[in-house]
Amino acid sequence: NFIDTIKKKNPKINAFIEIDEEGARKTAEEIDKKIARGEKTGKLAGLVIAIKSNINVEGFTVSAGSKTLENYVSGYDATVIKRIKNEDGIIIGMTNMDEFACGSSTETSYYGPTDNPSAPGYIPGGSSGGSAAAIAADMCDIALGSDTGGSIRNPAACCGVIGFKPTYGFVSRYGLIDLAMSLDQIGPFANDVTGISLMLDTIVGYDPADPTTMKIKPSFTNNLEGNIENMKVGIVKEFQEVSQDSIVKVVNDIVSELDAHGVEIQELKFDYIDLVLPTYYLINFVEFFSATRKYDGRKYGYRIEEVCGEEVLRRIQIGSYISQKEYSGKYYRRALQARSLIRKEFMKLLKDVDIIIGPTLPKLPHKIGTEIEPLEMYKYDILTCLTNLVGIPAASVDVGKIKNIPVGVQIQAKACEDYKVLQAAHAIK
Ligand code: GLN
Repeated sequence: NFIDTIKKKNPKINAFIEIDEEGARKTAEEIDKKIARGEKTGKLAGLVIAIKSNINVEGFTVSAGSKTLENYVSGYDATVIKRIKNEDGIIIGMTNMDEFACGSSTETSYYGPTDNPSAPGYIPGGSSGGSAAAIAADMCDIALGSDTGGSIRNPAACCGVIGFKPTYGFVSRYGLIDLAMSLDQIGPFANDVTGISLMLDTIVGYDPADPTTMKIKPSFTNNLEGNIENMKVGIVKEFQEVSQDSIVKVVNDIVSELDAHGVEIQELKFDYIDLVLPTYYLINFVEFFSATRKYDGRKYGYRIEEVCGEEVLRRIQIGSYISQKEYSGKYYRRALQARSLIRKEFMKLLKDVDIIIGPTLPKLPHKIGTEIEPLEMYKYDILTCLTNLVGIPAASVDVGKIKNIPVGVQIQAKACEDYKVLQAAHAIK
């Protein structure tokens, strides 16, 4: 069924840039045989999974949406892929994305833009727009994306699906093409919370190949029925102030509903919202510049600067400039200081509450192809990239529409309390 849907819808939507019909059918048949033999199957048995094109899957082109890697066919599986295969997930193909995950709209891919199945003609958000669109268009059960500053939650909000960014260090980054390695985290998209939790149960956990992973193994699917009535919920005044009124209204309606169910709501104040975007982008540019030095033409065939798009080039140039010795004190080191301050202050806010609820995006998505300045594009990320700077978990949950465009709310919690985000998402859905 999914293959039929993909064949029918993908030419217009462009969610997938590569599919493996034969491989998927073969895996499905093997699972059928396992069942026929009475063997135990994995927790993803029979579920069809799409993978963002910056995660290594053996035998697929892992292009990261860039001409730079158009000829790179991966020879190995990322740790998350190994785990999906071990649990009998069926990998159907690779999804479209902004070039090297730099963007918020999935318009900068070498393979063309992706359409938004829930609001045709509008961007699907980004950078994991292909994965979100694949879920929204019913082309698969679960999809993986990567989130450095919002690239899972932003497209989830735009396409009207659920997207989850785990606590930094919960999911192995081995086999993920870095954007900014101190911020990157892989996470799932699905139409329901159960899909999200099944995937988290599969991919979360220590991996010796990624020393930033934590040695804990929480359980999600068995832990969904939390008692939201006993949770304390925070709302941050400044999150609302930077957002469009219509979006704030949708979020407030959810908060009022929680209030009516007896949930304790607390208003919080965050004084450093203006620091978030400059801090995030300075760190992003420096780490990205460093990550791209391996694309010098020798191993992958192209020198990145010669074939990449405007946004990637801008980041490489600025990253190179601000990481020069004479400037690093002025920009990069100050960004690191600002990051510590943001982290400390935001963790203080979280001390008093279980979760914080607010808009995922401050504004509605634009129409595909609209001329938009880089700084305008960066503004989509103000509420999501804060989460990555702090390293905490967050989801975007679809809660309604404004003029036929989906709107998401973001739920954040303390590090390692991802289950609370899921419980709240489960209650709100
Ligand atoms: N839009 C943000 C950026 O361009 C986030 C990207 C991401 O999370 N991969 O950096």
